[in-house]
Amino acid sequence: MSAAETLAAAQAAGVRLDVDGAGLLVEADCAPPPDLLDALRRDKPEILALLRTRDRGEIPPPVTTTELPNLHGLTLAELEEAAGEDWPELRDDPTVLQALANAVITRRQREQGECPPHWTEHSDCADCGPVFLWPGSPARVLGCPWCFNRAEGRAIPRPVAVTCGTCRHFRRIDYPHLGHCAAGEPEAIAGLWDSDGRGCARWLPLEQNPGDEVHGD
Ligand code: SF4
Ligand SMILES: [Zn+2]
Repeated sequence: MSAAETLAAAQAAGVRLDVDGAGLLVEADCAPPPDLLDALRRDKPEILALLRTRDRGEIPPPVTTTELPNLHGLTLAELEEAAGEDWPELRDDPTVLQALANAVITRRQREQGECPPHWTEHSDCADCGPVFLWPGSPARVLGCPWCFNRAEGRAIPRPVAVTCGTCRHFRRIDYPHLGHCAAGEPEAIAGLWDSDGRGCARWLPLEQNPGDEVHGD
C-alpha cells in the first residue's frame, strides 16, 4: 500500500492526521485498526511530507489536463462535505484531493457491502472472520473496516465460502443438518443444510468477544 493509499485508508476510517513537530498526530473517535497504525508508521515520512506541503500552503505545479486528479465522479461539493473544516487547506492540492476522493469512494463501497476493487488481500479479522483487505495487510488482524459493517448489520463480502452451520444467524430445526436463516437470506422450503459452502455476505461467526467492540476502519 502506498502512502497515498494509507492516507486514503485513514480518511476512510475517520482518522484525522496532522503534523505535530517532527511527529504525526493521529486522532480518531475510536481506536484505528492495528494494521492501519502499522501502515501509518511505515509511511510516516511520506505522509508527513504530504501534510507539510499542505500546511505550508504551497501552490502545486500548474495542473494540466492529464494531471487532474481522478475524483471518481464525485463533485467538489461532495469532497468539501467529506473534508469538513480542512477543505480550504486541501482543495487546491490535487494529490490530497485524489486521496480524499479515493477515501470517499472506498468508504462508500465498504458501507454498501461491496468490496473495494483494490482490497484483494485475504485476511482474518478476530471479530468478523475472513475478510478482504488491501494488499500488504496482515493475515490476521484484531479489527478491520468491516467491523463497522458488522456492528451496523451491513453486508460483508467474504473471500472464502462459508457455511450456515458456522453462522450465528443459523437456527437449527429438529432435523439433522437443517435449519433456517434468521437474517432472511433466501432458502429452500426444507431450509438450509448446515455444511453447504456458500458465498453469503450476511454470514457472521458464531463466537464473539464480550463487548463486541468496533476496532476501526
Ligand atoms: S446469514 Fe447466510 S450463512 Fe448465515 S444462516 Fe443465513 S444464509 Fe446461512
Ligand atoms: Zn473486522
